[in-house]
Amino acid sequence: MTVYHHTVVDGAEREWPVDPAAAGRVAPWAARAPEVLAQDLAGMAQYFPHWFLTGSAGGKPARCARRACQGAPLVPTGGALRCARCGTAGEADGLLWLGHIPSLARPEPAFQRRRKALRRAGFSEVAAGEAVYLLVPLMLVYPGEWPNVQPVVRYARRWLDALDLPRSSGAHHLIQGGRACIFSWGQWTAMPVHAVLQERMTNHVASLLKVAAGQRPRQAFIGRIHHERWQPER
Ligand SMILES: [Zn+2]
Repeated sequence: MTVYHHTVVDGAEREWPVDPAAAGRVAPWAARAPEVLAQDLAGMAQYFPHWFLTGSAGGKPARCARRACQGAPLVPTGGALRCARCGTAGEADGLLWLGHIPSLARPEPAFQRRRKALRRAGFSEVAAGEAVYLLVPLMLVYPGEWPNVQPVVRYARRWLDALDLPRSSGAHHLIQGGRACIFSWGQWTAMPVHAVLQERMTNHVASLLKVAAGQRPRQAFIGRIHHERWQPER
């Protein structure tokens, strides 16, 4: 079954068929175990249909080198990692997912100032009836040893900045400039990427938004499994 991904590039909606063999060229694990990638593609299509798979370069999204493409992502399609705008093939050293997790805007008056800051910084929200959801920008980077090693999930740094949250803070379960700490040492067992987002990141996002609304981090993150065991980097 062919999976199609889409995103907006330079104001225009682009859609492409995902080529698993092209993904395997930059991620040996995906070439060795195509069924693992197929499972992730199917799970994401079902639960996070607006996310898309791109090449990575040094843990960041791989981008088209052509100036006219203004940093359009390189995506696995048509036998290579290709620019989502112009189709030119480019280089990558791994794979990652880009997308958003929708999370309810906090009702506290103190949070309204934060929402304004997010809007000023260009981050969108969507309304569903009375409810307003923030679209929290994330990326999930596959390790070279997937699925034996946990993925790296990062917040967009500008999003953290707009909410006046620290990029690295043990109390906020953030390390390495925006990476979410979502598993304690030795806790990882192989699971598909959509389950990482559902079972771990959704809670992490909700806790961070509580902090942005004025709660103390210790209280906002209470009950997180890894709370007592995690040793923040110093
Ligand atoms: Zn391009």
